Amino acid sequence: MKKVDLHCHSTVSDGLLSPADLVRRAAAKGVGLLALTDHDDVSGLAEARAAADECGMGFLNGVEVSVTWNEHTIHIVGMRIDPGRPELAEGLAAIRRGRAERALRIAQALGEAGFAGALEGAARQAGNAAIIGRTHFARYLVEQGVARDVKTVFQHYLVRGKPGYVRHQWASLEEALGWIHAAGGVAVIAHPARYRVGRNELRALVTEFKERGGEAVEVACGGHSAEQVREFGNLARHFGLLASSASDFHGPGESYADLGAVPDLPEGLVPVWRDLV
Ligand code: AMP
Ligand code: MN
Ligand code: MN
Ligand code: MN
Repeated sequence: MKKVDLHCHSTVSDGLLSPADLVRRAAAKGVGLLALTDHDDVSGLAEARAAADECGMGFLNGVEVSVTWNEHTIHIVGMRIDPGRPELAEGLAAIRRGRAERALRIAQALGEAGFAGALEGAARQAGNAAIIGRTHFARYLVEQGVARDVKTVFQHYLVRGKPGYVRHQWASLEEALGWIHAAGGVAVIAHPARYRVGRNELRALVTEFKERGGEAVEVACGGHSAEQVREFGNLARHFGLLASSASDFHGPGESYADLGAVPDLPEGLVPVWRDLV
C-alpha cells in the first residue's frame, strides 16, 4: 500500500526543500498521494504538481492557513483547493502582509533582547520564500550560535512568554473556511495535539469548525502518539468529520516525521482523500 501524506512544507514557506525536491523525496519514501501545504501561500503548487506527474505520484493542491481563534493560533489546511480563486488568493495575500509587519515586530523584540540584525538574518534564511516565519528567525539564531537547533531557539525565544514572541492577529476561522470553500476545497484542522487548549476548548473549536462547514481533522500526524491518534480518531468520529494523514515535514533533521512516516488511521474513519482523488 502506498502511503498518504497530506501536509508538508517547501522553501515557499518554512520548509528546506524546493517543491520539486520535496515531491521527489516523498516518492522515494513510498508516498503515493501527497499534498503540499505551505503556510499562507500557494506559489509552490505548480512546480510540485509537475514533479508529481513526472514521478507518477498522486498530488493534491493544499495550503495551511494561519488563524486566530479564541486568542489561540490555529492552523487550518485547505485541501484540493483551486489556487487561482480570488477569495483565497486575496485572503492569503492579506495574511502575508500581516506576516511581514509581524516580522518587523519580532525583529524589534529580538533586538531589545540583544540580538541585532534579526530581520536581515531571517530574510536571508527565507531566501525567495513567499513568507517570513518564526522558523526563519530560529534558523538565523542557530546560525548565530544562540542555540544548537531550531527547536531549542523556539523554546527559549519564540514561543509565548519568551522575548522574541509577539502577539499577532491572523485570519478568523470564518474567513479561512470561507476562502477554502470558495476555492472548492475541503477544510482540515491541522495537528490538533499541538494547540495549548484543554479538552473542552478543543471541543468548542471543533464544534464551531463543524458548524461553519469544516470537513476534516488530522488524526494521524507525525509526532502524535498512538494514544493521541486514538483520541483524535474518537473526536473525528464523534463530530462526523473525515480523517487526514499528515507528516508536517519541513526538512531533513528538522521535523517530527519524515515524508510519509505517519501512523495508520484507526479503523472505521473515513479518509479525507477518499472523495478527492
Ligand atoms: P509562524 O507561522 O511563523 O508563527 O511559525 C509557525 C511554524 O514554526 C510552525 O509551522 C513550525 O514550522 C514552527 N514551530 C512552531 N513551534 C515550534 C517549536 N516549538 N519547535 C520548532 N518549530 C516550531
Ligand atoms: Mn512551519
Ligand atoms: Mn501548522
Ligand atoms: Mn505545517
